[in-house]
Amino acid sequence: MSIQVLPDSVVAQIAAGEVVERPASVVKELLENALDAGANHVHIAINGGGRKLIRISDNGSGIRSDELELAFTRHATSKLRVIDDLVSLATLGFRGEALSSIAAVSRITVTTRFRDERAGNQLHIEGGVIKSRQTVGAPVGTVISVENLFYNTPARLKFMKKENTEKRHIMALVTRYAMAYPHVRFVLEYDGREVFRSSGSGQLADVIVQAMGLDQFKQLIEVFAEDTAHDMDPTINVVGYTSTPELHRSDRSSITLFVNGRWIQDASLTYGVVQAYHNLLASGRYPVAVLMVDIQRDEVDVNVHPTKAEVRFRDPGAVFSTVQRAVRQAVIALSQPLGSRIAGVNMRWQPEQGESDQMDLHLDVDDVAADQRAPNRRQGYASGDPTEVPFGPEAPLKPRTLPLLRVVGQVGARYIVAEGPAGMYLVDQHAAHKRVLYEHFKDAIKQNHVQITAVSTPQTIDLSGAESRVIDKGLETLRMVGLELEPFGLNTFRILGVPDEISDLDPTELFPSVVDDLRNGTPDEVIDRLVQRMCRMAAVKTGEILNIEEMQSLIRQLERCESPRISPEGAATLVHMTGEQLARQFERNS
Ligand code: ADP
Ligand code: MG
Repeated sequence: MSIQVLPDSVVAQIAAGEVVERPASVVKELLENALDAGANHVHIAINGGGRKLIRISDNGSGIRSDELELAFTRHATSKLRVIDDLVSLATLGFRGEALSSIAAVSRITVTTRFRDERAGNQLHIEGGVIKSRQTVGAPVGTVISVENLFYNTPARLKFMKKENTEKRHIMALVTRYAMAYPHVRFVLEYDGREVFRSSGSGQLADVIVQAMGLDQFKQLIEVFAEDTAHDMDPTINVVGYTSTPELHRSDRSSITLFVNGRWIQDASLTYGVVQAYHNLLASGRYPVAVLMVDIQRDEVDVNVHPTKAEVRFRDPGAVFSTVQRAVRQAVIALSQPLGSRIAGVNMRWQPEQGESDQMDLHLDVDDVAADQRAPNRRQGYASGDPTEVPFGPEAPLKPRTLPLLRVVGQVGARYIVAEGPAGMYLVDQHAAHKRVLYEHFKDAIKQNHVQITAVSTPQTIDLSGAESRVIDKGLETLRMVGLELEPFGLNTFRILGVPDEISDLDPTELFPSVVDDLRNGTPDEVIDRLVQRMCRMAAVKTGEILNIEEMQSLIRQLERCESPRISPEGAATLVHMTGEQLARQFERNS
């Protein structure tokens, strides 16, 4: 054969091989484009494992009508102008290769409306050739449908993995992006059936629950660390979750790493995470972790690989040790329930000195001083003795599950604003107090330690015949949760004692709802519902003004709850925003 320059269509197909290896890689590129366009809702529909159809709809900026064809041209990008831009890149894409590559090996229909334009446009492309264009009515945003992927590249079609393998890859991919972008709502459908949805609440914890389930989430511990070694500004931030030593896997695939919002594969960092479990996991066992590494953009080179899944750090050693230390700290703090608690450490909150103070505290030093300042205004808050918890005075200090938080103030007589080493926490006072009371209560029940206050003038409750039969059968259960009742004539009961927690409230308020609680379920479920009901009653209400000491005391206790982030009923108790997330809020759409 004589030498000839390849026609554009062949060049495009060869290049496509680098970027779009398989349906999952198409999904990845289109997802990244949607996120780069500022979407907060991304819908992904997959048919036939992605070979028949991949359709991604977003509510991002849309594509300008006069740039629509350009977007499908090789090396056409709105994200990079000169090579120096790479250093400060804030977008996921930058190579301008994805759309043209995908278009070269499929049939694409794009429907898009740019945010400043009145109408939308639709473009149809087959094998890289534009077949039609028309004006259409469409909401702001973009829908890209990729049909018959690889229809014109028989070699690639032959090597394609089975449909189920592909679905697994796509699911893993979408859940990862959902974790990296918790403020974006993702919906994934396979052949018309929804298989994953994230709420877009902004909470990584929520997405992890949605992706892995509550049971697994409960076996994760929060990781937070800043590397402040170099100067006052933290250069490396690590936040996320890692498993307790009880949860482990046979391979490393459950260790998920993000760098500046980009999912990456990095053997060395993965090894750092595994290393952190040294002596805690059997050999051949690996933890589950989801870690977000945030690092100054000029410290990391993202232009290493066409799929952008690998990055190069300017100082890989620093990143490695920050990640390893962060995970180790979290795991150690957990596996030493009592820690090396230093009694009497007089730590005061001095925000001016910077957050690094908090990290020096090894996470298990208590803010004894703050606890001692807290008044004993209400049962369930710490009294003079910092080790004292209600429903069981000699309960040991629980391991920390949240970082040490400093209360800044209250918003709307409803939320407590607190700051920690990894950003801002907005805590729902009612939900948080319910959580604290609930765990104390459950512990007390487990240890048979429920403190009962005798009622000075016993009140009576009148019920229907059916209701009183239920109460009659449930007297023993009620006693277990601290409610002492005795029959007092036909269909009437007398309340003799109540749990300390609600001793200054009107216990008759609990009836007849308690009857419903008693009616169904296993004994454990019944007890759980009763406890929840009393916690709802005893917890500080929305609308109550709290002083700093009360708030700090509540937060202190929340920090050591087993599941500090959810109320007993399963709602969120807090919203956490990292410094980076806060900054991002201000960068957005500007
Ligand atoms: P890159 O993302 O590397 O810039 P792509 O080929 O993926 O390259 O996309 C080309 C261009 O098309 C992007 O730079 C962007 O301007 C535009 N674009 C692609 N997808 C979308 C989308 N979903 N919403 C808005 N603009 C998009
Ligand atoms: Mg792109």
